[in-house]
Amino acid sequence: NREIHLASRPQGWPTAENFRLVTTEVPTPGPGQVVVRNRFMSVDPYMRGRMNDVKSYVPPFALDAPLDGGAIGEVVAGEAGGVKPGDTVLHGLGWREYALVDAKGARKIDPDLAPVTAHLGVLGMTGLTAYAGLLDVAAMKPGETVFVSGAAGAVGSMVGQIAKLRGAGRVIGSAGSAAKVERLTALGFDAAFDYHDGPVSKQLRAAAPDGVDVYFDNVGGDHLEAAIGAMNVHGRAAICGMIAQYNATEPPAAPRNLALVIGKRLTLRGFLVSDHGHLREQFVQEVAGWLREGRLSYDETIVDGIEQAPEAFLGLLRGENLGKMLVRL
Ligand code: NDP
Repeated sequence: NREIHLASRPQGWPTAENFRLVTTEVPTPGPGQVVVRNRFMSVDPYMRGRMNDVKSYVPPFALDAPLDGGAIGEVVAGEAGGVKPGDTVLHGLGWREYALVDAKGARKIDPDLAPVTAHLGVLGMTGLTAYAGLLDVAAMKPGETVFVSGAAGAVGSMVGQIAKLRGAGRVIGSAGSAAKVERLTALGFDAAFDYHDGPVSKQLRAAAPDGVDVYFDNVGGDHLEAAIGAMNVHGRAAICGMIAQYNATEPPAAPRNLALVIGKRLTLRGFLVSDHGHLREQFVQEVAGWLREGRLSYDETIVDGIEQAPEAFLGLLRGENLGKMLVRL
């Protein structure tokens, strides 16, 4: 069994030296436990925060111990809680080839329903984040103009498409390359721009001449500032992530125009997907339906091999992914 440990805490941008590939014995299951041969694991931006030794909504990763996170694999040993060898399960112990999982923490999935990777993305945590943030937190209404940053990523690409499918009037996305912008247009975004091509505020104004009603923030910084500037009276922002500052060593310079929230009577609301589990069933039904009907598409960027997991994580932070970033183990 090979697994990735956190060797040291990154200062600013993580480097390969912060991670260590460690070989251990394949575990044996105790009562209530199963052993899972992981096939796919998720790398996610929130993991960067867990590499810091600070108190947050999830505890920090421990040094010299395996990292963890969403993963899917087959049960190879143990039988408990209705889970048995041969079953495909979703659980929280990625970053290792073999995981010793409490059966309570494993959810059985039907591998015939959808490609298993969908449960880590479009039908999983990132999909629910998009769905809950847009429809519950920001309460998007038909006809509204929606702006989403990080739009070509796992969450962002779902936000834009769900917005259109739920009747948004105009959907605008920003992303980090011309190829991503082209993909957003193909996914049905009404407008998209590369944030490297000029100030976000200027590009957003051009893309949203009538202003923005809902902003889904994955990036923070100048994107949030631009959105506040472009938002209409009573606009709502779902504050989902601020990836522009996850590796920052200095406090962010933007947004500098926060006072506009008063006159425009804006709502800026942070949220965690974990508080929206009650929407899961409705979300899966609706999104699985759109997938079946061919009305919604999703991208995945798959990196091979546990030894490549740190590089995949770094690639995610650098924007090398289109859609959901996954590691095949
Ligand atoms: P993505 O698939 O969107 O991958 C991250 C993307 O961020 C990269 O592809 C890159 O794309 C973009 N990015 C990186 N640095 C910058 C930067 N400085 N400025 C602008 N864009 C940047 O990841 P996810 O979909 O998994 O997550 C998206 C956001 O949602 C993150 O902020 C994450 O923390 C947050 N999140 C929050 C949750 C919650 O419960 N609140 C749950 C899940 C995710 P590009 O090429 O466009 O730069």
